Amino acid sequence: MDKGKNFIEQIIDEDLNSGFDQSKLQFRFPPEPNGFLHIGHVKAIVLNFELAKKYKAKINLRFDDTNPENEDQIYIDAIKNDISWLGYKWDKECYASDYFETLYNWAVDLIKKDKAYVDSQNSAEIAEQKGTPTEPGTDSPFRNRPTDESLDLFSKMKKGEFEPGKHVLRAKISMTSSNMLMRDPVIYRVVDTHHPRTKDKWKIYPMYDWTHGESDYIEQVSHSLCTLEFKPHRDLYDWFLDLVVDSNKTRPKQREFARLNLSHTITSKRKLLSLVEKEFVSGWDDPRMPTISGLRRRGYTPEALKKFVTTAGVAKRQNIIEMSLLEFCVREDLNKKCNRLMVVQDPLKITISNYDVGKQEVLELINNPENTESGNRNVVFSNEIYIEKTDFMEDPPKKYFRLSPGSEVRLKGAYIIKAENVIKDNNGNIKEIVCTYDPKSKSGSGSPESQRKVKGTLHWVSSSSNIPVEIREYDRLFEHPSPGDFSAEDIAQAINKESIKIYQGFGEKELSKASVSESFQFQRKGYYIKDIDSTKDRHVFNKTVSLRDNWKPKN
Ligand code: ATP
Ligand code: MG
Repeated sequence: MDKGKNFIEQIIDEDLNSGFDQSKLQFRFPPEPNGFLHIGHVKAIVLNFELAKKYKAKINLRFDDTNPENEDQIYIDAIKNDISWLGYKWDKECYASDYFETLYNWAVDLIKKDKAYVDSQNSAEIAEQKGTPTEPGTDSPFRNRPTDESLDLFSKMKKGEFEPGKHVLRAKISMTSSNMLMRDPVIYRVVDTHHPRTKDKWKIYPMYDWTHGESDYIEQVSHSLCTLEFKPHRDLYDWFLDLVVDSNKTRPKQREFARLNLSHTITSKRKLLSLVEKEFVSGWDDPRMPTISGLRRRGYTPEALKKFVTTAGVAKRQNIIEMSLLEFCVREDLNKKCNRLMVVQDPLKITISNYDVGKQEVLELINNPENTESGNRNVVFSNEIYIEKTDFMEDPPKKYFRLSPGSEVRLKGAYIIKAENVIKDNNGNIKEIVCTYDPKSKSGSGSPESQRKVKGTLHWVSSSSNIPVEIREYDRLFEHPSPGDFSAEDIAQAINKESIKIYQGFGEKELSKASVSESFQFQRKGYYIKDIDSTKDRHVFNKTVSLRDNWKPKN
């Protein structure tokens, strides 16, 4: 599906057409290392990295590490790992904290040029003077304090002579601007926290707006792409750049695109962190999490995630994408790649009364009909097998094509069987079904009986040749379609209390060869990935997605 160029590519093309040197194109992906990346970030990653590829431009990975209270080396490592897993390589690994010295010196220049001042009010007082979108703000009583006094205070802030909140540095723009963000924004504050990289060197930290554009400029990023909520920040971005840009260098340009919003999930690191902290999930990589690491453990592939964000598109307006599109993308990808196997998740024993006890027959089944190179595998057939409990009904409705008393079904790749007798325990629960089989009906044998049509085909596993498997089946983590509307504190109310079910079943012996992170199609059920919780004797599989969904993409 070629949707032509997205609006960002059009902007870049216009710039190139009006003389911008293509060799000066440069991009960046700028995560704050305060959590693991989520599906929303995939959109920004794919957008930036694909642009770099397409225009043969450089791209930096820049950690926006200006809030040491929330940041951690663990997040830095996880972010790098996730981007690499998606298949992207960055040119330089940068940190906003590497520019702290430069940013500080520029801030001193700002004060000297009367473009910044130290405000000695507390944050409540400053907020009170901010005004509203319809009413202008009020000047701080410190707005016109002498330059030398601001310089002196700012240097003392840097030395750690003040408590956090006692003084801040503000840009001197205008308290009457119609853009509230331009009303003398704070650009430095005192923070007394250990920083993962600069350790205890800095006592003052630059704010996002001051840091971001200037970092773009230092790195010579040409197109700084961010999400729509930063649109009102663009004036400020430009105002700050005006103060430092040298005319023979590239002036970065901020442009905004719509965030990716996904139904039934949240895309906010802060809220995801609260799920981890409150132990609603087992960690950032819990297979129910919309994080890249959670999706990976769930069985999503880089190709499926890229396909998803590309199909969702790069838009200027907000919209909500259905989870079913994401599921469609992974299903399509896994269908091509995965070998098929039979696994019975919730076993019901079948005894075939006219098949010799102890006899074992080796059947050959195709690994993946979508991939001619995938070859065959051996599956053992015997007089005792398991089928799914849900594939038998004692008293079936009309048009029930699975097994029921007196009816016939085909066992996939094997024989046609007929249910003769239902054996129950003392409580009346079905324990076992006695069947007979048609010895001439073997699949692929070429006999007329092998062509005999029966309505249902069931997957099965021999009771004498199998491995026990644990299957973890997931449902949506959130019951509510827009859990993002809940605060981090109230998020519990949106949670689906039954988002995981665990089954102990049996799989074909072949499955014992599976390695961790290998994916399969369990026939008639869906796609599954071997989980890291597996051990030599315990084979754990996560369900990625079921085989079918009613959702169809629009062409
Ligand atoms: P969060 O609220 O999850 O922390 P953020 O925007 O603060 O998100 P950053 O680490 O600052 O996260 O984001 C890095 C980049 O990813 C930014 O350019 C940001 O605009 C982009 N991004 C974040 N969330 C989304 C999303 N849902 N869709 C598209 N891009 C996103
Ligand atoms: Mg953020």
